[in-house]
Amino acid sequence: MNTRRTIPDVAIAGGGMIGAACALALARNGFEVALIEAREPQPWRAEDPEDLRVIALAPSSAKLLDELGVWNTVRDARVSPYSRMRVWDAESGAELMFDAVNEGRAELGWIVENKLLLWTLWQALDRAGVRRVCPNEVRDFEVRGDRVSLDMNEDETLPARLLVIADGVKSTLRDKAGIQTRGRDYAQRAVVAHVMTQRSHEATAWQRFVPDGPIALLPLRDGRSSIVWTLPEAEAQRVLAVDDSTFCEAIGVATDFRLGRIMETTPRASFSLRLQLAQAYASERCVLLGDAAHAVHPLAGQGANLGLRDVAELVSVLSDARDANRDFTAMHVLNRYARRRRSADTLDALSFDALARLFALRAPPLVTLRGIGMRVVDALTPLKRRLADHAAGRI
Ligand SMILES: Cc1cc2nc3c(=O)[nH]c(=O)nc-3n(C[C@H](O)[C@H](O)[C@H](O)COP(=O)(O)OP(=O)(O)OC[C@H]3O[C@@H](n4cnc5c(N)ncnc54)[C@H](O)[C@@H]3O)c2cc1C
Repeated sequence: MNTRRTIPDVAIAGGGMIGAACALALARNGFEVALIEAREPQPWRAEDPEDLRVIALAPSSAKLLDELGVWNTVRDARVSPYSRMRVWDAESGAELMFDAVNEGRAELGWIVENKLLLWTLWQALDRAGVRRVCPNEVRDFEVRGDRVSLDMNEDETLPARLLVIADGVKSTLRDKAGIQTRGRDYAQRAVVAHVMTQRSHEATAWQRFVPDGPIALLPLRDGRSSIVWTLPEAEAQRVLAVDDSTFCEAIGVATDFRLGRIMETTPRASFSLRLQLAQAYASERCVLLGDAAHAVHPLAGQGANLGLRDVAELVSVLSDARDANRDFTAMHVLNRYARRRRSADTLDALSFDALARLFALRAPPLVTLRGIGMRVVDALTPLKRRLADHAAGRI
């Protein structure tokens, strides 16, 4: 920690990709920022194997990263643009196809390694003048008059005018702010790995909906695909334990061999899944963003994209207040951010949840209806364009 003695305008607890992006965005907008993160991020090196955790980044997120001056570095390092998305229903056989050409774009989005994005953001923090406090942990905080005082490890304290809570889905600081959550445990696990398929991925993001949960094949730059396979907990544990050739065969079956046989796989990792929405995004001198505010089903690949939209909104609201010589920590200012983002995030989270429930249905009449619905959506260009625009963050 450096020795500057000024009180930061904003302290951010949690330097994951959303907290780090927020720190960078606020600093570039003239705020004094301190970022407290428990773990040093791992360096990203081109010669290292691809991170098993990847995200599908929407154009709105790439635009924000560009404004933060990091997108070119990320894009030139190792990302995989995808220009089509094909989604199909295992039970009804109905299919939806999105093509960037129909949106007047070269790509629908990019598959990006989490580690690369995080590392690039962290590399930019010093240049922007962000005070990094890492490794350290915010254990508690207390509002005292015109500041919030953060208690950290080694009995260190840090005062700030505003606290941004970005400590992830298991946020302890959200609880300390007295903010409840609602949602449900999906009792599902997302199994991830990178696999080599017999046929080319054709720069397409593939997703097959099976009643047990969706399986996605996301295109990687070296020709492999990254799988995100959502399964009931016990089934996920079984799949994690089998040998590689059994695992490859199982993925082939689960993807209906759309890209042919699965030739090889990396080791696997897995993540438990829950729907979780904070009941409030702001309390006195503190706001929530990223997974601390909302955890969504990965089937739409939107969790981090929503978090980056939180960042853009927060920075805009705080900057507007400061530029108008108003107190950017005032509750009505924080509430403006909270109102806008909480309703947007809630709508998206519940839509993804509804999709997860819809595709879990097996009753034949409902499967038939679902198939008809998908075919109608696929045929209705304006509706499809609206869905694509929404996923891209344009509406
Ligand atoms: C399988 C899977 C697939 C996904 N695919 C996509 C996708 O395709 N597209 C997409 O947009 N999103 C996707 N997501 C979601 C995305 O990964 C998350 O939304 C995103 O990583 C959340 O980032 P975050 O910074 O909010 O939280 P985190 O990454 O959890 O970061 C929180 C940080 O806070 C730190 N921390 C915790 N407590 C403290 C404390 N007290 N003090 C200091 N630091 C603390 C932690 O060390 C951590 O670094 C996916 C998620 C999963 C599980």
